[in-house]
Amino acid sequence: QKDVNYVRDLFLGKIQGKHTPIEDIKELHNAIRRSGRRMQIIGKPVETNEKIEENDVFPRPPPSKSELQPRPPIITVMGHVDHGKTTLLDSLRNSRVVDQEFGGITQHVGAFSVKLDSGAEITFLDTPGHAAFSAMRARGANVTDIIVLVVAADDGVMEQTVECINMAKSARVPILVAINKIDSPKANIENAEQMLLQNGIQVERLGGDVQAIHISALKKINLDQLTEALALQAELLEIGSDPTGFVEAVVVDSRIDPHRGRLCTVVVQRGTLRKGNILIADTVMAKVRLMRDAQGQLLTEVKPGYAAEIEGWRELPSAGELVLQVESEKQAKAVIKCREGKKELEMQEAEKFAIDAKTQHHQMLYKEKLELKRRIGRFKLRNQGPRAPESMPEDDMPTLHLILKSDVVGTLEAILETLSTYNYPECRMDIVSYGVGAVIENDNILNTNRFHISAIIYTFNVSCPPILQQKAEAQSVQIKHHNVIYKLVDTIKQDMNSILPPKQ
Ligand code: GDP
Repeated sequence: QKDVNYVRDLFLGKIQGKHTPIEDIKELHNAIRRSGRRMQIIGKPVETNEKIEENDVFPRPPPSKSELQPRPPIITVMGHVDHGKTTLLDSLRNSRVVDQEFGGITQHVGAFSVKLDSGAEITFLDTPGHAAFSAMRARGANVTDIIVLVVAADDGVMEQTVECINMAKSARVPILVAINKIDSPKANIENAEQMLLQNGIQVERLGGDVQAIHISALKKINLDQLTEALALQAELLEIGSDPTGFVEAVVVDSRIDPHRGRLCTVVVQRGTLRKGNILIADTVMAKVRLMRDAQGQLLTEVKPGYAAEIEGWRELPSAGELVLQVESEKQAKAVIKCREGKKELEMQEAEKFAIDAKTQHHQMLYKEKLELKRRIGRFKLRNQGPRAPESMPEDDMPTLHLILKSDVVGTLEAILETLSTYNYPECRMDIVSYGVGAVIENDNILNTNRFHISAIIYTFNVSCPPILQQKAEAQSVQIKHHNVIYKLVDTIKQDMNSILPPKQ
């Protein structure tokens, strides 16, 4: 034991301060030999900073089965564009929201819960589409218990339906199919189910074990059947969580409200969230001041499986970020400092790696990755101010300058992520700035020839004040509005193609 401790301490840098001099490496070898264990030392000794690890906090080990209590399942709605995801979420949100006797308009806060007649409750993530799901997954957040795959009965399985099936399978999340638009005269349910079969989804009617509910999201037909089926599946999956101890949650949405400041919706995964709790997400902290549900009702506590919009963040955390409760503000500050230190080290490492990379191509890939990490890794989400394009190389490669404005951080990230996967050898995409919220004067200033570039403004689910719209038109600045991520990305792709020189 003494030797094992010695080895551990050596690695932690407890001996001889931070550094592990060569004598200690010899001693380390001896210690390993004495301990009778086999161990191989790979690479050079690295400088470790014990304090960094000590001050960080991590999720607790998983709870034992006896500590688990049932919680509402968390559902993500996915499917091909225009198959009715948004309509379904709207119908569910407006007709079946928990405590609807309180009235009031439900808001898009990233998640909402519905209560069934049976008393069971279900939480829906309110960001449809697989881009948002993959943005979360990219951060390692497996929030979803069940995926509702929406397939329009008049259209059947389409390209993105297949993408969603693959995504669900690789994430090992069970699927429940909602065949939508059964009210449409062109609906062909059998065809849709056959197409699903060809793509590896065998519904119960065709002898498989995937439940398929036939609905009309628009006419609100069979929505109860859908939610009951979800509750049943949740029961079969024995979804449970431990409502005691320190809180663990995941950010599903964050935004800036002109009146209420920074807001962030989290889904609680463990523990019970209460007012006054100190939380950290990545390197951002909050002291929970207020919590509300999707209907704006104030909450006093939030149990696992439920979502709440939280006020009290010092900065905005990003979607998919893990939220952990800590003991005090003092601890939160220490953890943040430690995490910032770690990040800096990681960046340095990656930079070194980029320089060491064998080929130029590899170097480029790493640099791009690094840049993306910088861009979306740590949002400072006030509106990103305009910047001069001084960092652009001076060549005559056609360049599309663009500005992105989105309603919430989650979708903004999803768009940035999707864009980052496109690689054009003959032209360049220059994201001049991006931000959350309506189009503002600042976004437009860019185009007054101050920087001699002309950017196109692409918006997702946000508005542009009429006065700015007029100004933009007067200056021939294009503002392209969208409310489907897929379509927005498509427009950008088309615009990229349009600036390519004509093929000889
Ligand atoms: P999303 O892209 O998957 O979010 O699809 P939307 O919810 O935006 O719906 C696309 C179009 O299909 C809209 O015009 C909806 O009104 C329509 N739609 C959605 N659900 C139904 C339905 O159950 N029946 C019919 N007839 N139309 C629907």
